[in-house]
Amino acid sequence: MQLNFKMSELTHSDTAVKHNINNMPDINSMDCMLDLIFYCLQPLRDKIGKPFDISSGYRNSQVNKLVGGVSNSQHTKGQAVDFTIRGMSVEAAINTIKNAGVEYDQLINEYGRWIHISFVKGKNRKQILKY
Ligand SMILES: [Zn+2]
Repeated sequence: MQLNFKMSELTHSDTAVKHNINNMPDINSMDCMLDLIFYCLQPLRDKIGKPFDISSGYRNSQVNKLVGGVSNSQHTKGQAVDFTIRGMSVEAAINTIKNAGVEYDQLINEYGRWIHISFVKGKNRKQILKY
């Protein structure tokens, strides 16, 4: 099995770097991030066959507040990631993901600019939203 995602990509935050904040996930968040990669991101990446550019994955509560995330954001639990797919519009990517047969909790078109996807093992609601 080939993995296209790294924990370092999912923990990187320009905001954390800028404010000198250590955005290292706690152990429970790491478990969630592994599930997110293994059951959701990588299967999608394998089906779609194009690079995913991740803009935000894990955010500790301090980083999350600075970027204006909602306080109970799934990003703070390691359950969500924001990304775009190279060579695809957000709309096209959402449509493809919808029909990919891969499990997710929430799939959100955020302002037509990026895709937010989350995964919660055993509790996926399969919600599709648009902001
Ligand atoms: Zn998000």
